[in-house]
Amino acid sequence: MAACKAKGRRYILQTCKSQYAFHGRYLNFWKYLCGMKLFDVYPLFDIEPVRALGSELWDNTGRRYLDLYGGHAVISIGHTHPHYVQRLNEQLNKIAFYSNSVKIPLQEELAKKLGKMSGYEDFDLFLVNSGAEANENALKMASFHTGRKRVLVFKQSFHGRTSLAVEATDNPSIVAPVNRTGNMEFLPLNDIDALTQAFTGEPVAAVMAEGIQGLAGIYEPATEFLEAARTLCTEHGAVLILDEVQSGYGRSGSFFAHQNSGIRPDLITVAKGMGNGFPVGGLLLGPQFQAKHSLLGTTFGGNHLACAAALAVLEVIESENLIDNASKIGLQLASELSGINGVTEVRGTGLMLGAELDRPAGPVRTALLNEFGIFTGSANQKNTIRILPALNLSEAHADEFLTALRKTLA
Ligand code: PLP
Repeated sequence: MAACKAKGRRYILQTCKSQYAFHGRYLNFWKYLCGMKLFDVYPLFDIEPVRALGSELWDNTGRRYLDLYGGHAVISIGHTHPHYVQRLNEQLNKIAFYSNSVKIPLQEELAKKLGKMSGYEDFDLFLVNSGAEANENALKMASFHTGRKRVLVFKQSFHGRTSLAVEATDNPSIVAPVNRTGNMEFLPLNDIDALTQAFTGEPVAAVMAEGIQGLAGIYEPATEFLEAARTLCTEHGAVLILDEVQSGYGRSGSFFAHQNSGIRPDLITVAKGMGNGFPVGGLLLGPQFQAKHSLLGTTFGGNHLACAAALAVLEVIESENLIDNASKIGLQLASELSGINGVTEVRGTGLMLGAELDRPAGPVRTALLNEFGIFTGSANQKNTIRILPALNLSEAHADEFLTALRKTLA
């Protein structure tokens, strides 16, 4: 009887296996017929933008949208700004790319302008392609410089998806086993005691913090906390890294968000707003870091087109006083937002704002998009709407959003 049952189980198992093999082959054949498709990792809005200008977008049906999100805080000077378009076109017609094996004077020009506008003229610039790559190189430099490997990072942080950057990100679900070196230690943001205590253990290579925590839901490191981090790093020979990938480039009303607190880090990372949509990032290194040939490198980083885009962005920020505009419109927005029924708290500064609601933000954001055509951002904090528009957002556009939000929350 028992032998009979076992034989039956084996039969069922084998049938299942052969069915799976059959369907697997069938599926592969079906995929072959359909051709390559995209790896499905992004939850998408059912919208296809085909044209954009300033803070406005139009989709393939001609519907107009107001963009208060800038595609993850990337659009800094507005979509298709004429100066940006002209500079990129001109560069495209001259030379678009050559690798870092030749002189590229545009890189020097960019470094000079970035140093002057940010107040970090004594720093050096290493050009990369993205925020994660900038952070990856910052962590490597901190480790090369100190000869250490222990890194202090903060809860709720997001630093990107490459190996070290993702391990420094407080989201275990996106950290693969191969990324888990065990060198990152997560501390609560703004807890000076916990930070001080962490320095009593194994020597620290680096402390890395976002200028303002973005994806978390817009949380600012307190001035006293950044001051304590600066002092502890100096006393213990550790490197202080400020990730300004989202908060930098004028978004906070200062060139870098940490400048609102007056401290100076050792390394600063930038991307997003730097290229207004063209992929470009950078690592700013303090004078204590020794350059050595081939220590860092990249094929695409700092190419001619990327530099032209980054220069155009700085030129527009400067000539149109966009940092002042971010500060002014940001203040107005924050003060109006805090008076709206249903908004319980407004966090952030400049045009990097988080509106905390008395209800989940998801349905409110969907209503803003579907009924009013307004793009806003989500956050890990489920009740928060993230507002990250271009730095030249107008008062009229800010009012349009406030009116829509009042109606949606009423
Ligand atoms: N750091 C911060 C603070 C970010 O917000 C992001 C992206 O959202 C990154 C790093 C990673 O940048 P990228 O997506 O360009 O690699």
